[in-house]
Amino acid sequence: MITVDEALDYVLAETTEADNHKVKLEEAMGYSLAQPVTSDRDYPPFNRSAMDGYAIHQDGYSPQKEYRVVGRILAGEFYKDTLQPGQALKVMTGCPTPEGANCVIKIEDARELDDHAVRFEAAQTKVWQNIARQGEDLAEGSGVFARGHRIQETDIMTLSSLGRYELSVKKPPSIAIISTGDEIIEIDQKPEFFQIRNSNYYTLKALLSSYNISDIKKLHAHDNAESLDQTLNLAFEFDITILTGGVSMGDADFVPQVLERRSVKKVFHKVAIRPGKPIWFGRRPNGFPVFGLPGNPMSVQVGFKIFIEPLIRQYLEMPMIKPLQLPLSVEKKKRHQFREFFPVKFDLDCMSRTAIIPVKTNGSGDIRGSAFSDGLAIQPEDQDRIEAKTNISFIPWVSSK
Ligand code: AMP
Ligand code: MG
Repeated sequence: MITVDEALDYVLAETTEADNHKVKLEEAMGYSLAQPVTSDRDYPPFNRSAMDGYAIHQDGYSPQKEYRVVGRILAGEFYKDTLQPGQALKVMTGCPTPEGANCVIKIEDARELDDHAVRFEAAQTKVWQNIARQGEDLAEGSGVFARGHRIQETDIMTLSSLGRYELSVKKPPSIAIISTGDEIIEIDQKPEFFQIRNSNYYTLKALLSSYNISDIKKLHAHDNAESLDQTLNLAFEFDITILTGGVSMGDADFVPQVLERRSVKKVFHKVAIRPGKPIWFGRRPNGFPVFGLPGNPMSVQVGFKIFIEPLIRQYLEMPMIKPLQLPLSVEKKKRHQFREFFPVKFDLDCMSRTAIIPVKTNGSGDIRGSAFSDGLAIQPEDQDRIEAKTNISFIPWVSSK
């Protein structure tokens, strides 16, 4: 049986390049940038007052010194002359400070003697005090986001400040999700005792939506070759096919044989991973990938995080997710030679998010494992025992960037 690393190498071995398309900033969340973003001008674009107060040149400043007030400007206005020594210009927060000024004294420290004269109470002043210097955030032309960066909530402030109302992004793949199983029913139907609601489709769709993948086809196949064959006709209109269920050794597990009959070339079947060992992966004659995940909900989530998400990121030219290293609060044992992915949560008893602790589950069929966890921890193939407080790899469910 191949290892997780070998399997992932096969999955990532061949990828086509995503097309580019343009989207409005308001619709850009989750997309991957097709071109780097650079700064269109200096930020701040001018020496900007950070306070309501008086702009002066601070050479020769003393609290006794009287300054002649030459005017007042509000944000959106500017003073066109050069400020001379001994002059003060009243400025509001956000104003460009004039040529000749290198210090703003806040209004609370000003004693306005009359409309034309002011003195300040500050014992001393510093050069560039209360002034954000032109270009100190970003110099014109400097790089801000690399190609392949995934756009997130926290990027919108920067992108809108830079005037990027439209962005060139990578077009995500279209995806068909086929749930298989005669026992599977829709989530709005009333189940008989032997029936199971289709959670896998909704899980996968939600995971895909963080990459702004919306061209998703929901399909279902019964546990017989004809039903599966027909469903594949619809699925193969899409770039990536994900099947759940039907890949194990049971009498109703038709997925591998039907896929091969449809000329989907098997790349691997079964990986030394837990949960999710029976995973099947192949490629259609056009090279498009087909994943057969075992039907258990935890196997589906792990299979997505470990094999499908990296493929999508590679296609969209995003950097790969690197696991974090965090101490596991308790000892963890295993009795197999597979790489194990187990749900963990931040150990809040440590008063901070600096350690992780396993969430109790009943294995791959458990439906709560992800709800009460923050991510997956990894127990390597050759480690049957992880001692408490040892650092281990951790992949958060919600991967930033
Ligand atoms: P299978 O891989 O087909 O043997 O299915 C393994 C387990 O996962 C069985 O208990 C199935 O009922 C369950 N299962 C399969 N497909 C789904 C699905 N779409 N949603 C929830 N559970 C599923
Ligand atoms: Mg099944």
